[in-house]
Amino acid sequence: MLIQKIMVIGAGQMGSGIAQVAAQAGFQVIMQDIKDEHLSRGFKGIEKNLARYVEKGRISEEEKEQILARIQLTTELTLASEADFIIEAVTENMEIKTQIFQELDRIAKPEVILASNTSSLPITEIAAVTSRPGQVIGMHFMNPVSVMPLVEVIRGLATTDEVYQSVENLAKTLKKTPVEVNDFPGFISNRVLLPMINEAIYTVYEGVATPEAVDKVMKLGMNHPMGPLELADFIGLDTCLSIMEILHDGLGDSKYRPCPLLRKYVKAGWLGRKTGRGFYVYE
Ligand code: NAD
Repeated sequence: MLIQKIMVIGAGQMGSGIAQVAAQAGFQVIMQDIKDEHLSRGFKGIEKNLARYVEKGRISEEEKEQILARIQLTTELTLASEADFIIEAVTENMEIKTQIFQELDRIAKPEVILASNTSSLPITEIAAVTSRPGQVIGMHFMNPVSVMPLVEVIRGLATTDEVYQSVENLAKTLKKTPVEVNDFPGFISNRVLLPMINEAIYTVYEGVATPEAVDKVMKLGMNHPMGPLELADFIGLDTCLSIMEILHDGLGDSKYRPCPLLRKYVKAGWLGRKTGRGFYVYE
């Protein structure tokens, strides 16, 4: 079907980023969240990003206003009946996501594709709660969405070729580079990245080196733009732990066991940048 109006569920870091790139690509966008303050925070973030583009001469003031005018904010999920494509980017919690997908399945037009931006939850399981599993797919954007070119497009067990193709085309229209992935825990990005971060935490746990030394080795020796522990603090240590648990449970291999030091930091509330302390201390 022709996609003109995209609905984004969740107006957090990822949802607002997806709404921004969709509006920039010329789509009408409905951004939905349960909290008004998250909608206004998400919208302000988009305004700020676009204002920066105006300063840099990438877009005109008039274009900025046109992009913003294409974004409608709502707390009503029922507006899903107007959308031609829906992408969910709410909190990483299976219960919340499956409830939303059940409701979207009831409200959305029957031909509409339902995508999830989940970074680790099984697409096949989310699809199974709907009456349209062939039209459910993963569309995993990277953070920050406006900057990072990659989108992992995850095929659930039942996702049809036609639906995969439409989503790949949509990702290209959003000026992103899609990569096809089958639905296994962690997809590609987190399956490869998180065990590396977990191993970096083990080196600190076992007293091999300090966090600064681990990060320096990976930046200067491997040309990584951020060290694994800096990156862990950026992602959030609670998120890192939950992804390691999904890999461990889903793949059943002890090589994915989360480092005890990671668990300890999460229990202490040292979640990284967002709480001011993780492997590093933030002002
Ligand atoms: P976030 O906490 O910034 O935003 C989540 C938003 O969802 C909040 O505004 C919250 O109010 C809203 N929400 C919660 N329940 C809702 C409901 N029932 N209906 C509507 N809105 C609801 O989280 P985020 O970092 O934007 O992550 C969102 C999703 O994107 C998660 O699935 C996460 O795994 C995935 N993701 C995150 C990153 C990252 O680096 N943060 C990267 C890729 C993918």
